[in-house]
Amino acid sequence: MALNELSRELLDVLCCPACKGDLDYRKKEQKLACTKCGRVYAIEDGIPVMMVDEG
Ligand SMILES: [Zn+2]
Repeated sequence: MALNELSRELLDVLCCPACKGDLDYRKKEQKLACTKCGRVYAIEDGIPVMMVDEG
């Protein structure tokens, strides 16, 4: 497994912290996009940054 690739298992358990929607893994951008609310989460060093900006 490549270092910067998220595992299938991790993707399966992750959901959007804002709306609990499914996340779409954008491999090229190294981002996770929520298919429900459209929020986008960055992936840093292979770890998704699941922070909700309430601003
Ligand atoms: Zn969402």
